[in-house]
Amino acid sequence: MLFKEIIGNNSVKKQLIEAVRNNRISHAQLFSGKSGSAKLALALAYAQFLNCENRTTVDSCGTCSSCLKFNNLSHPDLHLVIPVLKTKEVQNPVSDHFIGNWRDFITNNYYGSLNGWIDSFGTENKTGQQGTIYKDEAINIHKKLSLKNYEAEYRVVLIWMPERMNLEVSNKLLKLFEEPPKGTIFLLVTENANQLLPTIISRLQTIKIADFTAEDIVNHFGEQALSLEKAKQLRNLTNADLGKITQILEDKEGELDLFSDFSVWMRLTYKMDVQGISKWVDNLSLKGRKQQNLFLSYAIKMVRECLIYNFASDTLLKTNENEFAFLTKFSPFIHEENSVMITEKLEESIKAINRNANAKILFFELSLQMVKFLRLKRKFAIK
Ligand SMILES: [Zn+2]
Repeated sequence: MLFKEIIGNNSVKKQLIEAVRNNRISHAQLFSGKSGSAKLALALAYAQFLNCENRTTVDSCGTCSSCLKFNNLSHPDLHLVIPVLKTKEVQNPVSDHFIGNWRDFITNNYYGSLNGWIDSFGTENKTGQQGTIYKDEAINIHKKLSLKNYEAEYRVVLIWMPERMNLEVSNKLLKLFEEPPKGTIFLLVTENANQLLPTIISRLQTIKIADFTAEDIVNHFGEQALSLEKAKQLRNLTNADLGKITQILEDKEGELDLFSDFSVWMRLTYKMDVQGISKWVDNLSLKGRKQQNLFLSYAIKMVRECLIYNFASDTLLKTNENEFAFLTKFSPFIHEENSVMITEKLEESIKAINRNANAKILFFELSLQMVKFLRLKRKFAIK
């Protein structure tokens, strides 16, 4: 990964490059950013830059033998640690068991999320495991670090999602974070820094990675592929998650008519049209899990827009023309008495979908709940 392949994040890039050029390289660093931000890509670009044999003042060369190996994540001095699952074949899993799959997963989408990685296990994950870095991993790391570097000046141990380390691993690695062997650098890449032990955080230099802006997103895909308007919509929908946006565009899920699905659903539930609801549920159940989640995220967004329309300035709305026209009629039904319940129920449903819940049952039950919620009367009127 070259720095120039990563959109935006200019000040972080500058900071990392300067640190290498001035030889002020911190031996344990935490790249912290939301799901779908540039944190992993930047950590990988940094690891490559550290070891490039021919680096320029602003980037790795991309063609030396070290760069080529970093590029496909196969450099022998790049040790990757990732959350894994217990499967039928592997009862005491460590990263090395699944690292080939992870390389494919990440090189296919450098902004892929932990959820996406866990999803890639498919039916092997029958019990809904969330991914863990198990204690054997610490033993493995100690073993690897007891050997000399193969060829690189800086051996890099990259821990992806260290928040999934169990307590035993965390404690076993503390000392290493504080005092790694010579020529070894730890790069931790997290999307939930607040779940890390304070004793770990205090041993790391934290680098905060900002969210991608809508302009960044356009630049990433190119203006041909994506208008600024569409980029803004996708950014709102995914919470600026470039991994999810990539997936949506690849799967053409962007063409899924979320607005029409949502407005039809609200009309059916308001009218308590059980037959219509049943048909609507059948239709949504046939779609993939990603699409179902996208629909639920969209519904949460629309509930929020209703609240903004009711209680705040219209200038804060992030809606297009159709959505706005719908809000003007629908927003009186979303209010202080039901909005929290609706949002919670929608969020619960996303979690249930991720745990492989039966979509038909889930969406039917959710629709009946919506019937009830929409009938709740508000105590006072505003607009
Ligand atoms: Zn190079």
